[in-house]
Amino acid sequence: MTIETILPIPDLFSARRVLCIQPHYDDNDIAAAGTIARLRESGTEIIYLTVTDDLMGVVDDTLSDAEAAELLRRDQFAAGKIIGVNQQFWLGYPDAGEYDYFAVRRDMLKVIRQVRPDFILAPDAWLTYEGHRDHIQTGLAAAEAVMFAGLTKIKSSDSAVDASYPGHEIHGIALYFTREPNTIVDISTVWQAKVAALRCYQAQFDPQGLDELVMALDAKSRQVTAGLSFERGEPLKVLHTSALHCGV
Ligand SMILES: [Zn+2]
Repeated sequence: MTIETILPIPDLFSARRVLCIQPHYDDNDIAAAGTIARLRESGTEIIYLTVTDDLMGVVDDTLSDAEAAELLRRDQFAAGKIIGVNQQFWLGYPDAGEYDYFAVRRDMLKVIRQVRPDFILAPDAWLTYEGHRDHIQTGLAAAEAVMFAGLTKIKSSDSAVDASYPGHEIHGIALYFTREPNTIVDISTVWQAKVAALRCYQAQFDPQGLDELVMALDAKSRQVTAGLSFERGEPLKVLHTSALHCGV
């Protein structure tokens, strides 16, 4: 038996500025490029925040870290142009490496207090069987940063940002890579844009890998719309900010 929170599910599509937080440079687009493209179509400002440097998965291991980083940025900007990303931030923590959780949370608090989004997208830290620590830490830090953004006793990594933060309301968080969705976003009209964006990610996928990724997402996008009136969707767990604590 599932007991859902009594708080209303906030309307993601009423957001004017959405901060899309991802562990690696392609997670936002793999999970939610269709949703993000539709938000852009409705005039929402889109900002990406990437937590790690993503260097571990680069296909060509003869590249130096600097060369690989340049290719990753090239891919991310090309995909972002298709989806309509307005601004990008990178935290640069080591991909699959050792880093401090609280440092990540402080850096997220800084960006949230700087750009003041009214909605956050992030990976579901409670995805069953998620084995990648970057995803778990990013999802949990994002959830905590959303809850704590207004509590300026909890410091970000930049005291000047904290001192000038006027406070603002975050309506909710939309968790992607989730097995407990309460929202399926209709991405039928932007599916081709999503595929085009994914095909930009050439530093981390060879052509066969990209084909396999698109095939898997093709099947998934249809699977999640069973019983619905549209063809393709992306599953999200959308929660009121207050629903992130104590399950009320
Ligand atoms: Zn990832």
